[in-house]
Amino acid sequence: MPFTSLGLAPSLAKAAAELGFTTPTPIQLEAIPVVLGGADLLATAQTGSGKTAAFALPLLQRLQTGAAHTPRRVRALVLVPTRELAAQVGEVVRSLAQHLPNRPKVAVAFGGVSINPQLMALRGGADVVVATPGRLLDLVEHNALRLSAVELLVLDEADRLLDLGFADELQRVLALLPAQRQNLFFSATFPPAVQALAGGLLRDPQRVDVPTPAQAEAVVLQRAIMVDASRRTQLLRQLIKDNGWERVLVFVATQYSADRVATKLHHGDLFATSFHGGLSQGARKQALTEFKEKRWDVVVTTDLAARGIDIAQLPVVVNYDLPRSAVDYVHRIGRTGRAGESGLAVSFVSASTLPHWRLIEKRQGMSLPLEEVAGFEPSEVATQAEPGTGGVKGKRPSKKDKLRAAAAAAAQAPVKP
Ligand code: AMP
Repeated sequence: MPFTSLGLAPSLAKAAAELGFTTPTPIQLEAIPVVLGGADLLATAQTGSGKTAAFALPLLQRLQTGAAHTPRRVRALVLVPTRELAAQVGEVVRSLAQHLPNRPKVAVAFGGVSINPQLMALRGGADVVVATPGRLLDLVEHNALRLSAVELLVLDEADRLLDLGFADELQRVLALLPAQRQNLFFSATFPPAVQALAGGLLRDPQRVDVPTPAQAEAVVLQRAIMVDASRRTQLLRQLIKDNGWERVLVFVATQYSADRVATKLHHGDLFATSFHGGLSQGARKQALTEFKEKRWDVVVTTDLAARGIDIAQLPVVVNYDLPRSAVDYVHRIGRTGRAGESGLAVSFVSASTLPHWRLIEKRQGMSLPLEEVAGFEPSEVATQAEPGTGGVKGKRPSKKDKLRAAAAAAAQAPVKP
């Protein structure tokens, strides 16, 4: 079904086609007519579902009619949780708008960088502003823009906005908006705080749910490998080399580990770098751009990259450290297997993290076989074994070790003619 049959203008459909979007994704199919009809929208959607175009396309069409551009009055406001998502969404909105007869001015604003270029960019106003809440408020305080004429508000990744502690800023932004407006609310999860936010914001919303976790499972092959914590870097290196994995996103628990693991991999002949919130904005942008350009084999990151960031056709995600929750697990593995591509998500599990892994599995309603890789059989398992089970695995050869040794001996034995 073409985009035009959803009621979108041919110029928008043409821009979508130029981005490779010819057939609407399920969320686009459902959300676009709702937004074009002027109703509030409450959508369950993850990154990877095509949610950006699901709000950007109808938003742009609605801006074609109505009030003309007024300096410093924003007509559509898109609030996002991170700088990377702001930049990415801004880029998509600009690309989709490029063939419109009344091309709107799109501005992107986020913290962590100098405010001056953003102030300059807002000179003469902007029709669409994509921003993180804190920097948006700074810009309002600098009198760079006014929010009193906002016709359309989009909250993208509302759960993440709250997770990142933006609740107060959000309320301050909402207080600056006119009562009469259309609200589009996107969230991957709906814990009580998100429900409360949606309840206070939306009027008779139309609900659109796209069951992405199930879809993610369908296209992402998930594997769990038992390995001692101390041998994970070596194993990762071997897996990357043996399987010829390209562009691997590796998740670790801390910024420190991200730097450490990346450095170790780098010393092991892999093009590896780290990407996390402790890096300067410039360094983050550069790492992401270079990864997208396929100049790095491996990017080691914290949960910063788990949401929002879209790198098309990311083939492999590795949980070097397990995520804290099942929700984070879904977000992490959602970085692969996107837009119909198949992906692989590998989780490293050690004796000490096994109970936590079991919990994630339970919450996910799945049970993966615990694999072992030859040469990396865990020895920590037996150190935690029940008393009286007889010795420590890894110090005495296990049954597998004996079989492997026998196989190796057989392979080395002279072959009889
Ligand atoms: P999003 O969920 O907005 O982050 O989009 C996820 C990915 O899907 C991005 O790489 C988009 O470029 C891509 N995408 C969005 N809509 C479509 C579509 N209709 N057809 C194909 N790819 C799409």
